[in-house]
Amino acid sequence: MPHLVDNLANLTTHKDRDELELALVSTIRDLLSPLTIAICRSVGERDDERWFTCTRLGPGELVPVIESDWNNLHLLPRLSDHPLRQQAVDSQLVMRQIGESHITVFPLSKNLESSRVLEIHSEGLLAEESVRLVSGVLRLYSNFQNLLDYGERDTLTELLNRKTFDGAFMKATIEQNMIEGQDQEDRRDASSTGSYWLAMIDIDHFKRVNDTYGHLIGDEVLLLLARLMRTCFRFHDQLYRFGGEEFVVLMRCKTEADAGNALERLRANTERHLFPQVGHITISIGFSEVRAGDTPSGAFERADKAVYHAKASGRNRLYSHRALVAEGVLVEQVTNVGDVELF
Ligand code: GH3
Ligand code: MG
Ligand code: MG
Repeated sequence: MPHLVDNLANLTTHKDRDELELALVSTIRDLLSPLTIAICRSVGERDDERWFTCTRLGPGELVPVIESDWNNLHLLPRLSDHPLRQQAVDSQLVMRQIGESHITVFPLSKNLESSRVLEIHSEGLLAEESVRLVSGVLRLYSNFQNLLDYGERDTLTELLNRKTFDGAFMKATIEQNMIEGQDQEDRRDASSTGSYWLAMIDIDHFKRVNDTYGHLIGDEVLLLLARLMRTCFRFHDQLYRFGGEEFVVLMRCKTEADAGNALERLRANTERHLFPQVGHITISIGFSEVRAGDTPSGAFERADKAVYHAKASGRNRLYSHRALVAEGVLVEQVTNVGDVELF
């Protein structure tokens, strides 16, 4: 029992979601010593959803691994390939299957973006007592996650708020450093990791919406736009409301064209969408690649300049900062000593 209390106390020291997941998997392994234990979530477009294994701890492994490759979602199993997981999600009950190795699937709390499960493979069928123990740990995990959500999400749209942005950005720049450190051969490899992009999205003439229809209707537009955003981006893209009518996306894409396509989809879908009472609205978007050694303010400044250009050229537009610099419309700022870029 003291061991369990120690594990649980350790679990709640993690504020980073990925670390929390890793700690959860390790905690349950310490309690049950199963063959394997994994957390899987649904990803992908509505009509082609797949199971992505976020974290997996196999036999004899000391550290859990992130298993699936987000670059090759089409290689992942379809939702229908794992009916037990689907049943656990739909019923929100623990599902068990007897087979070569016994499988027990626990539903994890659903969020707006995807469904998640914890799957345990064991040599013998898990005892009722063990199932209760794991369910208890998962309730604690879920309550703790809700607490984190409460502090990290915008109450109106449930998108992330700006408090968590700096940490996520730091992680992105560290990964970007590693990508840029790879040799050219690796970078050309089709499965290479791509890079991070920062996009700023600003609603056009939003003041008019408030002035004409009132603040409550304005709020509803913000909420509906957040929903549209969720349908346009992929599971690993992080969506933020930065206050007011400004939204930010930190996305991972292979190329600038991929990032641009997702953002263009949002621009076009927004323009087409019929908002109750208000009718049609448009958005202006600017984006820039996150660079190794970047700061949040540096990346924001670039994306913001592209938004500014979109506004100045008539709104309802999408611009890449790099493209605007290449065209000579914008001038690259000299950022740090030793990181001089002049055009
Ligand atoms: P532009 O196309 O240049 O971006 O014009 P705009 O009217 O969207 O920009 P401006 O920055 O002048 O106005 C933003 C407006 O957003 C001001 C305020 O009425 C509204 N706003 C800010 N926060 C909220 C909010 O939380 N709810 C609602 N309903 N409106 C908000
Ligand atoms: Mg604004
Ligand atoms: Mg605006």
